[in-house]
Amino acid sequence: MAEFDVDLFVIGGGSGGVRGARIAAGHGARVMIAEEYRMGGTCVIRGCVPKKLFVIGSHVRHEIEDAAGFGWTIPSMSFDWATLIANKDKEIARLEAAYTTNVEKSGAQIVKSRAVIEDKHTIRLLENDKKIRAKYILIATGGAPNHGAAIPGIEHVISSNEAFHLKKLPKRIVIQGGGYIALEFAGIFAGYGSDVTVIYRGDNILRGFDEDVRAHVRAEMEKQGITILTGCTVTKVDRHGDEFTTHLSNGSSIASDQVMFAIGRHPNVANLGLENAGVAINPKNGGIAVDHFSKSSVDSIYAIGDVTHRFNLTPVAIREGHAFADTVFGKREVQVDHANIPTAVFSQPEVGTVGLTETEARAQFSHVDIYKTTFRPIKATMSGRDTRVLMKLVVDGATDRVLGCHIVGDCAAEITQAVAIAVKMKATKADFDATIALHPTAAEELVTMRTPTARHVRQAAE
Ligand code: FAD
Ligand code: NDP
Repeated sequence: MAEFDVDLFVIGGGSGGVRGARIAAGHGARVMIAEEYRMGGTCVIRGCVPKKLFVIGSHVRHEIEDAAGFGWTIPSMSFDWATLIANKDKEIARLEAAYTTNVEKSGAQIVKSRAVIEDKHTIRLLENDKKIRAKYILIATGGAPNHGAAIPGIEHVISSNEAFHLKKLPKRIVIQGGGYIALEFAGIFAGYGSDVTVIYRGDNILRGFDEDVRAHVRAEMEKQGITILTGCTVTKVDRHGDEFTTHLSNGSSIASDQVMFAIGRHPNVANLGLENAGVAINPKNGGIAVDHFSKSSVDSIYAIGDVTHRFNLTPVAIREGHAFADTVFGKREVQVDHANIPTAVFSQPEVGTVGLTETEARAQFSHVDIYKTTFRPIKATMSGRDTRVLMKLVVDGATDRVLGCHIVGDCAAEITQAVAIAVKMKATKADFDATIALHPTAAEELVTMRTPTARHVRQAAE
């Protein structure tokens, strides 16, 4: 009898697990992959993809509102939530099937079951209590929404998981959180017509982003009618039939039809049997502790993606899954470079960012030049919309290297993906300046900002 049933057992059929399984199978490994819910994982089933579809749909309101200035008369608009949900569900089902087919085509075998670790080389499938012996185990179990403290009425609060399946559009919604998901859903619900209140515990939303971005996004969202209350938290939620009263730490309360929390996500490490194999947890973030090759504290067990709680983004999980498969089965050691990962918040307006914030750059470099502009986008000159775009470059004054780029406005994510190549290649401000502008665009500002708007030179004694 062979020592192992498979060369690789992957736990989790999400972004990272699927990539790891497919590439390993391509390298000739015998691969089995377990998924307890739906193939595709968070990104495809209840994350990036349905979220982006919701964002695109909700943005239509802005297009309709802006149309009048260009001569259009649009008699009356109406929106049907049930149609949105049904069409989204159809598309997600199509993608789930495509993920399944692609994995099967690669030669990996899918098992629809929860999998737990019995020891360093053994997996147990809860569906049929079968044990599988694997030379290597890849943990790619992702993460799940945090609910926070057990405040009274927490059972009435939904997370992003439920937001994708609401029976009807809430007329009024309270969203706690000031990060990616809270702001993306604030824009989504507001676009479809809900009255949105965001509750954030700190002094301003999007902690960790560039300060100018934080201020700009908040002001723009408020201009659209979204209420953002800072310096407070939700302490209690009461239900009265279909309505809720959300009580805040500042003593006030808000009536709404839904209450949603988007207060971070935790890595899925519980009830996985990690202790049976001696897999260590990173005490700093609660995820599985791994080295630069995504190897855990156990030689035969690797972990990638959100379960390691490093950078919880789909392309990162995919890259880590690919690097794992190349390293272990492809005879090619690959480490993922986590520097300069571009990211976008699909709020409305959108945020795109890559590299260092001004604050981070000033902490690391003695001479930092800032190039910043805000301007009215061309469309607003005719639509009359009260909105401005923010573009900001953070430059190392000593070497002229562009350290960071921060954009708030339409297409910020698309622009940032392209700028990220330049930043990754260590382009200088002179390289940006040498690039001829593409006119008329918003992005041309990135190559036409000639004079620093601020210059920070640290004195030797500082
Ligand atoms: P996942 O995709 O979460 O996959 C893990 C899989 O493992 C799941 O399918 C789960 O069911 C399964 N599983 C867990 N435990 C077991 C077990 N014991 N046995 C069997 N199966 C198991 N990222 C972006 O880059 N861009 C975005 O726009 C974006 N939007 C997002 C929007 C929302 C609302 C959310 C919640 C996330 C978003 N993300 C986005 C983050 C992105 O979804 C994750 O970073 C990514 O999905 C992580 O991939 P993963 O493979 O690590 O885990
Ligand atoms: P984030 O970490 O982005 O934001 C969490 C927010 O909740 C922060 O404002 C945080 O405040 C606040 N918070 C945390 N704990 C509490 C608490 N106990 N009470 C009140 N407020 C609290 O997490 P999200 O849930 O929005 O998203 C999870 C992750 O998923 C993101 O970090 C990102 O990696 C990924 N994602 C990526 C997207 C994209 O790429 N577009 C979209 C959606 C998700 P504070 O800042 O003060 O800590």
